[in-house]
Amino acid sequence: MIPAMLPAYVTESGGWKVWCPYCGCLHGHGAEPGYRIPPCGYGSSPYHQLPKGYFLLPTGEPLPAEANRLHRRGVDTQLRRMRSGKVKPYSPPPVPDWGKPITDRSIAEGLMIEWSYQSGESLEEREWTQSNFKRAWECFADYNDQLEKIRAMNIDPDVFSDYLQDILLQ
Ligand SMILES: [Zn+2]
Repeated sequence: MIPAMLPAYVTESGGWKVWCPYCGCLHGHGAEPGYRIPPCGYGSSPYHQLPKGYFLLPTGEPLPAEANRLHRRGVDTQLRRMRSGKVKPYSPPPVPDWGKPITDRSIAEGLMIEWSYQSGESLEEREWTQSNFKRAWECFADYNDQLEKIRAMNIDPDVFSDYLQDILLQ
């Protein structure tokens, strides 16, 4: 699975939330675009496996009206599964349109540029935001290719994951 670029929405308290396509609920983060490792409630979450995490893209929009209701439903499902103690296969619920990962580079880049301007970044900061986005996009987009090479070279995938995260968190 290729790591996701997820649209982030502004909450009433000014933080950001994304819809986790795996957990079927919202995850909260600080109001800043970039790479995050989410607090997924499921041990099987793809965001806790290689290469771990996702990238927040700022939409600048408020959290959609239905989001909190859907979130509660997702959390209830999670709690029910935990309490039942049964290890049933888990399949994530459908992802609402507003929560779907953004796979079009120009849309993703446009959101980053818009955020840069709206938050009054200096020219230097804007350049940094742009290069941070490009690096993340390339890491994410090329991830499977890179992983193949790493496997062929017999390098431990965990070492590779650390390396990738160093790049993303620079
Ligand atoms: Zn999650």
